[in-house]
Amino acid sequence: MESINLQLIPHNMEDCIYLDHAASTPCLPEVVDAMMPFFTQYPGNPGSVVHGAGKFAARAVKDSRETIASVLAAAPHEIFFTSGATEAINMAIKGIALSAGKGHLITCATEHSAVLQSCRSLESRGFRLTVMPVDENGSITPNLLEASIAKDTLLVAIMHANNETGVIHNLQPIGEICNRYGIPFVCDATQTIGKTPFLPSDFGIDCCCFAAHKFYGPKGIGALYFNTSGRVTRLLPQIEGGAQESGLRSGTLHVAGIVGMATALSTIENQAGSFRLFLENCAYFENRLTAMQGIILNGSSVLRVPGITSASFRFLEGGPLLASLNTKLCVTGGSSCSSGSGKPSHVLTAMGHGPQQAMSGIRFSPGLHTSRADIERALSHIEQCVAQLREESQTWKMFQKGSIKPVPSWFHPLDV
Ligand code: PLP
Repeated sequence: MESINLQLIPHNMEDCIYLDHAASTPCLPEVVDAMMPFFTQYPGNPGSVVHGAGKFAARAVKDSRETIASVLAAAPHEIFFTSGATEAINMAIKGIALSAGKGHLITCATEHSAVLQSCRSLESRGFRLTVMPVDENGSITPNLLEASIAKDTLLVAIMHANNETGVIHNLQPIGEICNRYGIPFVCDATQTIGKTPFLPSDFGIDCCCFAAHKFYGPKGIGALYFNTSGRVTRLLPQIEGGAQESGLRSGTLHVAGIVGMATALSTIENQAGSFRLFLENCAYFENRLTAMQGIILNGSSVLRVPGITSASFRFLEGGPLLASLNTKLCVTGGSSCSSGSGKPSHVLTAMGHGPQQAMSGIRFSPGLHTSRADIERALSHIEQCVAQLREESQTWKMFQKGSIKPVPSWFHPLDV
């Protein structure tokens, strides 16, 4: 078998400014230190509690579960470990729906593909699906949600912060509607947990999904918060086997990952100083970016999570823009999953953008360790790329000469 030669991939992190923290973050040193012994020194399987090594691993899992639960103001038995947010989402949505056997599901057009595809897969198996529209800011209208509820609605799956735009859904009215009608509320909080305080019980959430690699923990580990004394009486397990995680998710637990996730969450919680700097840097970046000509900040008039800035560039094509930006940066067009698909972003399309604007949406995602100097370098590179590409754009020249009206916002279908 051929070995992988990473040298073949042009990827010098010293020369490149990483602005893709919404896709994944580096592990904090504390996280790596906490995990390392579980790779090299402690081989125990937490299921093998008949000997010391197994008991030690089980203890590490128990402590980590307690730490995560306490950050979320949940009980430890309400935290179920998974391989990431995608699995937790599938576990919740399919688990609820398939326990019922048939019925109606409600979700929203701007959800992550893990939610949309889980729902569509159920739709292909006979479940009815309502996909809620959003307005130009990416927000849903609670009255529309209420009007969509049917007698057999099994769940409402609405995310907290959107992964492409950072737009935060106001979950209060959604939780209240779910509560009023007794419908389980599933929430994908992958872009929120670890970035801003979030307690699922504040919104009456029954199932909440998240992943460690979004908050400076390792990849390959996530969790489902499942309010076991709430409206969901049963989740049909999607992975069967040795009945780990109370039978809900079989398979040997990723002990190092679990320890890493708990360490990341508790460390991040206590980093108020670097978080303040991060917020200042994000605001500075956004202010400077939006001061550039012909740039539209998506979801600009609603609450957004820090660290996600989605901007569309008028009169520029997404592909060449992304390629040009990524000679010195690491950014994506929309989500990391759809980046490179050549399709317009489903999120920006749902917000009413025309194809050009939905294709030229770029997600800039600074992180805790992005310095002001990185931001300055990134901004000057963005300015250069945009100026160069616009130099070649006929529509931009017409716009500048006044032959194209300066339509104010997102609404204009083809941006000309
Ligand atoms: N949900 C949201 C909002 C996300 O941003 C992501 C990852 O990008 C996921 C779900 C899926 O997470 P994972 O890749 O860890 O399964």
